[in-house]
Amino acid sequence: MEFINLKAHYKALQEEIDSSIAETLSDGRYIMGEQVSELEQDLAKFIGVKHAVTCGNGTDALQLIFMAYGIGKGDAVFCPAVTFIASVEPACMLGAEAVFCDIDRYSYNISPPSLVKAIENIVKDGRLKPKAIVAVDFLGNPANYNQLEVIAQKYNLILIEDAAQSMGAIQNTQKCGSFGLAAATSFFPSKPLGCYGDGGAVFTDDDALAEMIQSLRLHGKGKDKYNNLRIGINSRLDTLQAAILLCKLKALPTEMEKKQQVAQYYNKAFKDYFALQQVSQNNVSAFSQYTLLAESTEQRSKILKELSLAKIPYMIYYPIPLNKLPVFQNGESDSVSTANSLFYCERTFSIPFSPYITKDEQEQVISAVLSAR
Ligand SMILES: *Cc1c(COP(=O)(O)O)cnc(C)c1O
Repeated sequence: MEFINLKAHYKALQEEIDSSIAETLSDGRYIMGEQVSELEQDLAKFIGVKHAVTCGNGTDALQLIFMAYGIGKGDAVFCPAVTFIASVEPACMLGAEAVFCDIDRYSYNISPPSLVKAIENIVKDGRLKPKAIVAVDFLGNPANYNQLEVIAQKYNLILIEDAAQSMGAIQNTQKCGSFGLAAATSFFPSKPLGCYGDGGAVFTDDDALAEMIQSLRLHGKGKDKYNNLRIGINSRLDTLQAAILLCKLKALPTEMEKKQQVAQYYNKAFKDYFALQQVSQNNVSAFSQYTLLAESTEQRSKILKELSLAKIPYMIYYPIPLNKLPVFQNGESDSVSTANSLFYCERTFSIPFSPYITKDEQEQVISAVLSAR
């Protein structure tokens, strides 16, 4: 059994993807070919934003946003303690400092009250300038944008959506990738919208920001490649990956439906025995992972050991809150309590899940987890 069945995913779309790849190969426009701009148009339409600007990967997408806003030395960037390091790493590389907030005990997304406390602490301390919030749609579940937008406005902060795990997800009537002033996503193969290598994109309604990011991703280009206006980076989506994503984007709504069915089936089987991620009424999660909380670290170890024996793959997203990592031991990282983050990291485990997981596989996973409990 596979953790995320990427091969079944390919098989389901094989004919279309193969012919799209073959066409790209014979076109010969391997960098910034027509498929790249075609994909950008399709993505913008799908997400419901004015601009989609593709780039090399999700980390670069975040970096391009931070660069475009001039985030750097002396700036505080607020981020949940439970996410992948790439949510905030590029801001740190530009000289800013990460300030970690706790997560909500039930949704596992950034906790608005904890965020407010962290901002107030930075304001009081006076050493750093509160600059931006990175909200992460954790495991595909949209963050609480109603409250985050109010907080961002009140403290004059740039709200950035890290939608790496949430392509296809919806809050109210709005797609993930459309929240905040700008959003970043990743097309890493195992993400909800994955290609067959690295890829990423920035989404925004802001014309000037989109233009700046188009320049920054191509060495700070001006009218052309050799009329450079600023220091940028080299971060493009390969034409081949764009050709693949054009096919995969079309399949995303159907995959979202299948994922909801699998999640409902798992929810029913597990709800009496484990804590489930709370997906609020106004959210549809992209379920980049399906995750359970054990009662304790000991119970989790016991379950994971049994899963290994039964040859059922699992993952832990993530074992350590970011503020407890060696890399973040200097600076503001512990300005608020991150008790919920620690509670979560000590108990979480993710089980095999994808739109292409069979009923038989689901049954195997359910019976192995329940009997190991
Ligand atoms: C995967 C991921 C990223 C980084 O994307 P890459 O394409 O791997 O650079 C950023 N943030 C989150 C939350 C992610 O899951």
